[in-house]
Amino acid sequence: MGRIGVGAMAVVGLVAVAAVAVAGVAVGRSVRSRRRWRRVLGVLRELEDACETPVGRLRQVVDAMAVEMHAGLASEGGSKLKMLLTFVDTLPNGNEKGIYYALDLGGTNFRVLQVQLEGRRSSIFPPEVEQQPIPQHLMTSTREDLFDFIAASLKEFVERKEVSFGYSPEKRRELGFTVSFPVKQTSVSSGILIRWTKGFAIHDMVGKDIAESLQLALARNGLNMRVVALVNDTVGTLALGHYHDPDTVAAVIIGTGTNACYVERTDAIIKCQGLVTTSGLMVRFKFTVVNMEWGSFWSSHLPRTSYDIDLDAESPNPNEQGFEKMISGMYLGEIVRRVILRMSQESDIFGASLSNLSIPFILRTPLMAAMHEDNSPDLREVDEKWREMLEVPEVPKKARKVIVKVCDIVTRRAARLAAAGIVGILKKIGRDGGSITGGRSRGDARMRRSVVAIEGGLYTSYTMFREYLLEALREILGEDDARHVILKVTEDGSGLGAALLAAASHSSTPPPNTVDSVQMP
Ligand code: ADP
Ligand code: MG
Repeated sequence: MGRIGVGAMAVVGLVAVAAVAVAGVAVGRSVRSRRRWRRVLGVLRELEDACETPVGRLRQVVDAMAVEMHAGLASEGGSKLKMLLTFVDTLPNGNEKGIYYALDLGGTNFRVLQVQLEGRRSSIFPPEVEQQPIPQHLMTSTREDLFDFIAASLKEFVERKEVSFGYSPEKRRELGFTVSFPVKQTSVSSGILIRWTKGFAIHDMVGKDIAESLQLALARNGLNMRVVALVNDTVGTLALGHYHDPDTVAAVIIGTGTNACYVERTDAIIKCQGLVTTSGLMVRFKFTVVNMEWGSFWSSHLPRTSYDIDLDAESPNPNEQGFEKMISGMYLGEIVRRVILRMSQESDIFGASLSNLSIPFILRTPLMAAMHEDNSPDLREVDEKWREMLEVPEVPKKARKVIVKVCDIVTRRAARLAAAGIVGILKKIGRDGGSITGGRSRGDARMRRSVVAIEGGLYTSYTMFREYLLEALREILGEDDARHVILKVTEDGSGLGAALLAAASHSSTPPPNTVDSVQMP
């Protein structure tokens, strides 16, 4: 064999060795990749187990909610549930007449609203609504600056709207004022601002009466208007629900945050007996609205994971709002992000660099919902959203499936816990039909029609969340009893409800226009 032949043989030999080596590497890689994939599935299975909410556990949450409600009503600080007395003892019933206004101070925007009531339930809609951003500099200035700005806008709105009615400027108007900041009410139309949230920091307002501050600004701006109702947004939702349907006994908001309120027997509010007696509430009314602040509910029966624990520890308010952190729109996407980050530490299949996925709150809940609800066979939407969010190349299909599954587990748990919370309220007021643990026997407990007014972007815009919640209600109560519990979406209760409460409290002479008409057991 010539030299060339020998050389050729050597080359062939080398190629063969290299091919074997490449195959070996490939086999090694695929073994490693299978092992990593198994670890990802392990994380998934662990999450699924930790988030399990079988009906037995949900019933324990129902009971815990009812017990905590009792405790919160018995003494100040008796429970994580604050169970705040709202002094609202008169809910609108559809007979109200006149023109009323509302001011909704929620966060970055404020809204002004006018309704014209003619005494027939359905004739008020649509109301006139205008929304304006609050200039950034006013969020950290003085209360005079903030409320002068709001009063001037309100005055301009009122004058513009009333030209067409030929309304006399001397005529006094009534206003409902919705505040989505923590307020300790001192009467139906007054309350002390406990603290600011959402970027506000007006120090001379904290500890002062927020309704009075607005009232003074209205006077300074020459607007003849009286603040007759200071309203928490859940109470507004309840008011709107009750206006449409007198069987409405509770209201729940599930949006960025979550909260609930309900109609309680005044004599059950043990911690406020002195107050309710002196205010005349006890004498005049058998029922009053309690703002639960249920976002802070906690029970050892809640299925908590390491992701929840870390999220809480790293939040600006650790050990607070425990229920809210498992349920509301602010947090669901963030829980999913934490799970996928954990998986990405096991495998690079999600395409995302760890640093990208390490950004807290980068995965917002609406985006999570869009991925969760992707019905395309190859989960195209998941791929697109994931790539857009993290600026990564295409995500393999099996990774897309895992992302959807994580969204499903987190949302399902949230929705089912919210359902248990709602049944907890019904149990507390004896409207669960006695079908829940420790109740009366089913035979002697007739289930009464109970309406729960509900609003918030998570419930109204996230179909899977809504369906899981309704499914859990049926599971907990049983199909028959669940038919008597109606969840009714009330659009814009926080604004409209305040105007209706202004109308109701303005025309308040005790019965028949009282929460007595709610006919509690
Ligand atoms: P807020 O609670 O801030 O007063 P909303 O009641 O409108 O306002 O709720 C908005 C919240 O609802 C968002 O922060 C988000 O968490 C959630 N949300 C809104 N749209 C969707 C959606 N399409 N899918 C899932 N969640 C949504
Ligand atoms: Mg809201």
